[in-house]
Amino acid sequence: MSKVHIDHNLEKVRQRIKLTCERVGRNPDEVMLVAVSKTKPNADILKAIARGQLSFGENRMKELEDKMLSLDNPDIDWHMIGNLQTNKIRFIASRVNWIHSVEKSKYLKEINKRAKEHKRIINTLIQVNISGESQKGGCKPDDLKSILNSAQGLENVAIKGLMGMATFADDPEEVRREFQLLKQLFDQHQSFNEENIRLEHLSMGMSNDMEVAIEEGSTMVRIGSDIFGARNYP
Ligand SMILES: *Cc1c(COP(=O)(O)O)cnc(C)c1O
Repeated sequence: MSKVHIDHNLEKVRQRIKLTCERVGRNPDEVMLVAVSKTKPNADILKAIARGQLSFGENRMKELEDKMLSLDNPDIDWHMIGNLQTNKIRFIASRVNWIHSVEKSKYLKEINKRAKEHKRIINTLIQVNISGESQKGGCKPDDLKSILNSAQGLENVAIKGLMGMATFADDPEEVRREFQLLKQLFDQHQSFNEENIRLEHLSMGMSNDMEVAIEEGSTMVRIGSDIFGARNYP
C-alpha cells in the first residue's frame, strides 16, 4: 500500500478551496474545511492537527464518541455528519460541536434535551435530500419548513443551516443542479430569524465535488479521502 501524505494532501485541499474561491470571487475564509476522519485512526487526526486542522467529521455515532473521548482535546471542533439514532444522541451530546444530519423533528427534541443536561448549545444543520436517492438520508425539500418550525423555542439547539449530498454522478452539471436546489432552499428560508434559527451555513461538497459546491455557495466542505486516503468501507 502506498503511503498517504496527510500533510501534503491537506495543503492541496486548502489550495483547491482557495483557487476555487478566487475564481468565483469569494473569500476563502467563508469556507470551513471539515476533515472527515471516519474509519481512520487517531494517529491520522493528530497528523492533521499538527498542520493546523481542528474541525473533524465522523459519520458513526459510536466512532465519534470513542474518538472524542480518546483524543480528549478541547481544541477540536467535532462534527457529526452521518445518520443519527435517537438513543445514541446522549453519548455525543456532552462534546459534539456540530450535527449536520438532522432530518426529523424528533432528533431536534432529543438533541435539545441532551444538550440542556450538559448546559450546552449544539449547532445543528438540517439535512435535505437533494438527490432524490433513498439511501442518501435527509428530509424532503417540502418538509424543511415544518422541521424548522419545530425548532422554535428549543433553547439548546442552534439551527445554523442546511446540509446536502449530491448524487455520485460523473456529470458535474447534475451535481450542480442539486447544489443549486439546496442553495435555493437556503435562500427561501432566510425569513426564519429566531434567536436559535438562522440559516448561515451550507454544508455541501465532498472530495469529488467540492469545487462545484463552492461555486454554488458552500460554506462547509466535508473532505475525507482527498485528505486521509481511500477507505475500505464508506
Ligand atoms: C464520508 C463522507 C464525506 C467525505 O467523503 P469523501 O468522498 O471521502 O470526501 C462527506 N460527507 C459525508 C456525510 C460522509 O459520510
